[in-house]
Amino acid sequence: MTVVTRFAPSPTGFLHIGGARTALFNWLFARHHGGKFLLRIEDTDRKRSTQEAIDAILDGLSWLELQWDEPEVYQSKRAEQHQAAAHRLLAEGKAYRCYCSPDELTAMREAAKAEGRPMRYDGTWRDRDPAEAPAGVAPAVRMKAPQTGETSIDDLVQGTVTVANGQLDDMVLLRADGTPTYMLSVVVDDHDMGVTHAIRGDDHLTNAFRQTQLYRLLGWEPPVFAHIPLIHGPDGAKLSKRHGALGVEAYRELGYLPEALRNYLLRLGWGHGDDEIIPTAQAIDWFDLDGVGRSPARFDLQKLDHLNGHYLREADDERLADLVASRFQAVSETGRHRLVAGMQGLKARVKTVAELSEMAEFYLRDRPLALNDKAAKLLAGDAPAILSKLHAELQSCNDWTAEALESLVRQFAEAQGVKLGAAAQPLRAALTGSNVSPPVFEVMQVLGRQESLDRIADRAA
Ligand code: GLU
Repeated sequence: MTVVTRFAPSPTGFLHIGGARTALFNWLFARHHGGKFLLRIEDTDRKRSTQEAIDAILDGLSWLELQWDEPEVYQSKRAEQHQAAAHRLLAEGKAYRCYCSPDELTAMREAAKAEGRPMRYDGTWRDRDPAEAPAGVAPAVRMKAPQTGETSIDDLVQGTVTVANGQLDDMVLLRADGTPTYMLSVVVDDHDMGVTHAIRGDDHLTNAFRQTQLYRLLGWEPPVFAHIPLIHGPDGAKLSKRHGALGVEAYRELGYLPEALRNYLLRLGWGHGDDEIIPTAQAIDWFDLDGVGRSPARFDLQKLDHLNGHYLREADDERLADLVASRFQAVSETGRHRLVAGMQGLKARVKTVAELSEMAEFYLRDRPLALNDKAAKLLAGDAPAILSKLHAELQSCNDWTAEALESLVRQFAEAQGVKLGAAAQPLRAALTGSNVSPPVFEVMQVLGRQESLDRIADRAA
């Protein structure tokens, strides 16, 4: 059997962390088993679905490099297939038309509420002769669910979960206006797409019982279900914006790398011993559903920062230079060369591409450089005079490498009877406009002789 998984988001909002994790688990499971990963946009709620949300989902998945293997399926375009399934059940006597008016249903709901039990359709039209149907009432179509026995799911995460059929009612398949319900659409689509494994949030576990009943009525085998625990915030409550959880596009904007976010999402609810750093190829090799825990995962931004720092240091310098350059308006050839040449020193000190860009900015700015407050302080007092003498020394330096420059400045400081910092700190401030930067001699090498001398001259007295 070829494994077929799917991610089935409802496009009513951005691709959030929980959705991205569900997509990742489905993708990894398919890749691990050499199967297919499909995408279905569940846009049947036309009022709440937006094109903007669809685009955010497609972009978010593409950015995360969770490529789906066939063109995405739009649930709204499959209403005919959904209706056909319901009509087949009607023809086979496995579904029936229900003529209850909204008032009757409201009365049922209120009676249930008064008795403190959940609303269950009472089966009024299940066995009633349709000849008794009131005139002018458009019927809904309900499935004839089994009334005795039980429905069990062998869930790959939750284990075997069973519900007594008496607790479930005859759910609506087609509304009075003929539109299919969400529950019908999901079952027909998963069947038609050949889905073998439905991996999704455990908020759908209760749906799985009715869906299983419907599969059986339709004569189809349900997929294997795996309901993964939801993500919680550090305080134990269900994850929300309040915890700093954002849409995937926001993490991109903040400067996280897709491989870092994948690693982070993987560890949210899945484990392999104590391993924290699990690159994607390794994850594909290891991933299976028995590594999914049963208790909710905790969202922890610090872990994401830590992982991102790791993947930044691993990342190719050209790629990082492109990412940094894309955050500035126009970057010259020289600027880009400096970014690549200086990247080792830059990326060792940051956690995100945003921080990297901030740290790299001095490589891209034209003279005279703006100074931050601390740099301005470092350039007060004797500093301009020291820089002036140092400038003269440096002019005669003909080996413009970090090592040679360092020994030159050390000798200079000694000769002046000052500490290395008294020369190196103003130098850093003059070259970068800041008090924090990669090692200053490396900066000089990357900037090159002329630019370095000019920047020093700008601050010398
Ligand atoms: N569309 C549902 C959601 O976004 C998922 C349904 C499913 O995975 O079966 O929560």
